[in-house]
Amino acid sequence: MNITSVNVKPIGIIHSCFRQKFGIPRQPGLVTAARAELELVAPYNRREMLNGLEGFSHIWVHFIFHRTMDEGWRPTIRPPRLGGKKRMGVFATRSTHRPNPLGMSVVKLEGIRESDNRLLLDISGIDLLDQTPVVDIKPYLPYADIINDASGGFAPEPDAGTPVRFTPQTEEICRCYKQQTGRQLDVLIEQILSQDPRPAYLHNNNERSYGMHLWELNIRWHIDAGCFVVYEIKQQEPPE
Ligand code: SAH
Repeated sequence: MNITSVNVKPIGIIHSCFRQKFGIPRQPGLVTAARAELELVAPYNRREMLNGLEGFSHIWVHFIFHRTMDEGWRPTIRPPRLGGKKRMGVFATRSTHRPNPLGMSVVKLEGIRESDNRLLLDISGIDLLDQTPVVDIKPYLPYADIINDASGGFAPEPDAGTPVRFTPQTEEICRCYKQQTGRQLDVLIEQILSQDPRPAYLHNNNERSYGMHLWELNIRWHIDAGCFVVYEIKQQEPPE
């Protein structure tokens, strides 16, 4: 083989509500309320590079798993979907620990805008950590990318949804937060928790409470009779 390595340059960066890994959906499209800005960086922040993209409802975002890339990779991993009990080949999974730390997500393109000399793509349905480096953007082509008779191996359909409730206090905090920021925090939390973000080995542990960071908020919930109850939302920056 003549090519032994390729130099890939980031063309953009993600600004997302997900400030830590815990809570990020395991695939794109599952949490439609999860929104981000994809900011193009110089010398790729030229409007003409996006000409024609407006007409596409969805795009492929290719990115670097920057947060886990220094942890290396393994030939087999235990997918959460199999309860963390069975090993599958790394190339049969969407594990972030891969020989090349490359990720790809189909996301909805909500719009393209220029703001304070920054060129931004508004995207939703994301599964991307804040500050993720983006290496490419391509249009999603329904005629080629939708495969109606495709089979889903050991992951044929999404996990069953867990019911989510808010306390009167956390419901009120979400209402005020929406008024101040326009962000639909309650819908976002509900969609994230219904996917059950807990690691597989804790799926049968109903004693603990859990916390996750969204934007500058810390959200806490516990389990009550098979339901996730969101009991606390406070301002708190995530630990680095
Ligand atoms: N659509 C991706 C899915 C990868 S798994 C793909 O097929 O390549 C999804 C997980 O990636 C998320 O749950 C999140 O924990 C993790 N993730 C997202 N952005 C990341 C980043 N920049 N670095 C490391 N992990 C990240």
